[in-house]
Amino acid sequence: MNDNGSLNNMLTQNWEDKVILVVEDIDTNKIFFDAALRKTKAKIVWAMDGQEAIDKFKENDIDLVLMDLQLPVLDGYTATREIKKIDPKVPIIAQTAHVMSGEREKCMEAGCDDYLAKPIRLQILMDTLSRFLNK
Ligand SMILES: [Mg+2]
Repeated sequence: MNDNGSLNNMLTQNWEDKVILVVEDIDTNKIFFDAALRKTKAKIVWAMDGQEAIDKFKENDIDLVLMDLQLPVLDGYTATREIKKIDPKVPIIAQTAHVMSGEREKCMEAGCDDYLAKPIRLQILMDTLSRFLNK
């Protein structure tokens, strides 16, 4: 055992009753999310573009969305706006490689609840998800 609160928290998460929609078009990023979330036993629904994200959101009972912003077909900002029209309360956490100033504001304006900059550190991911899922 160790006394690092966040790490300990991460190791003991059990989200087997949660469904997370992961919207991501790049395979290496999907592998990261799959590895990170597998231990939590959360059910993962995958979408590869913004339109698929909206469709999958309608078809499933989603507890949280991890939304890439740079996506083919329909971008993550538009997908976020559409999903928030369907369910204003679902937490949407944006993830983006863009570190331009104003990016976070643009995210929040679209309705995102939080924002993660890539490359995402495992501990930051788990801490952020915990804030929204452990309520
Ligand atoms: Mg992308």
